[in-house]
Amino acid sequence: MQIKFWGVRGSIPHSMDTSGWISHFEKLMQTFFNDGHKSASDIQNFIKSKPAVEIGGFGVSTTCVEVSEGSQSIIIDGGSGIKSVTDIRDEYHILISHFHLDHILGLPFFLPHYKAGCKINYYSAHPETEAIIKSLFQKPMFPVSFGNLQADVKFHSLKVYERNVVNGFTVTPYQTDHPDLCFGFRIEKGGKVYAHAVDNEAVRITKAELGRDAGLYANADLVYFDSQYDDDSIESKKGWGHGTSHRGFEVCSEFAVKQILFAHHDPSFSIEDSLRQQKKTEELFKKKYSHLNCKWLYAYDGLVLKI
Ligand SMILES: [Zn+2]
Ligand SMILES: [Zn+2]
Repeated sequence: MQIKFWGVRGSIPHSMDTSGWISHFEKLMQTFFNDGHKSASDIQNFIKSKPAVEIGGFGVSTTCVEVSEGSQSIIIDGGSGIKSVTDIRDEYHILISHFHLDHILGLPFFLPHYKAGCKINYYSAHPETEAIIKSLFQKPMFPVSFGNLQADVKFHSLKVYERNVVNGFTVTPYQTDHPDLCFGFRIEKGGKVYAHAVDNEAVRITKAELGRDAGLYANADLVYFDSQYDDDSIESKKGWGHGTSHRGFEVCSEFAVKQILFAHHDPSFSIEDSLRQQKKTEELFKKKYSHLNCKWLYAYDGLVLKI
């Protein structure tokens, strides 16, 4: 199973402004020379010697993730990251977790909607999905009405806590901890498990606290986890619906998770801010969780993982 992360930022697409990028490039150039490089021919080696996020940052786009196996795939959420899904296909399968703007704002700009003969299937456990998606395509917010779309768009209901089959994958929706009803998805195929747990404050962590929702994480090969905040900021953001890497590690510990990917990055964060947060996570892992047999990583736009 392959998972591609088209958009990993939370709440609103965000890039640093021009002066932020200028300072970033200035620091990179200083590091290039401090590392002992002298000529343009060293640039590739310099870039390869650093983690991708230190050079290019963590990304701009909001939530969109694609799970695929061979020629079959499903897309989760239509944040602005969906605009990067540009290869031409005859049919798409899109799961919707909830309707906060950052998870649907890319949909009117998803070009297959305007391609005759293309089939787009939406799947959700929310009964109001069809009405809400249709409402995105209307004046005066958007110039093309839903009735004028060229694609054949269909809406399908997912049953919560049940194993639904979507384009060859088994998809089980569970409720996350979020101010408006939001579903995480346990996606299974070929014995592998991807658990999509964004947006999620993860107030409930233990099996007893989670009850039926514990099924989301159990023995997952990869958990995609909401870590917008850290231990210092979460106290003032209670009830906002986003978690921390600390809570993610607790989930890994409780459910024998093999790998966790931290995401839904704070929209106000510069590259330096995210690197600082990543560093705190590293210190926490070394201090408290290094006994876990679990890999962890911070997500960035365009990252591809195989499980
Ligand atoms: Zn969100
Ligand atoms: Zn949300």
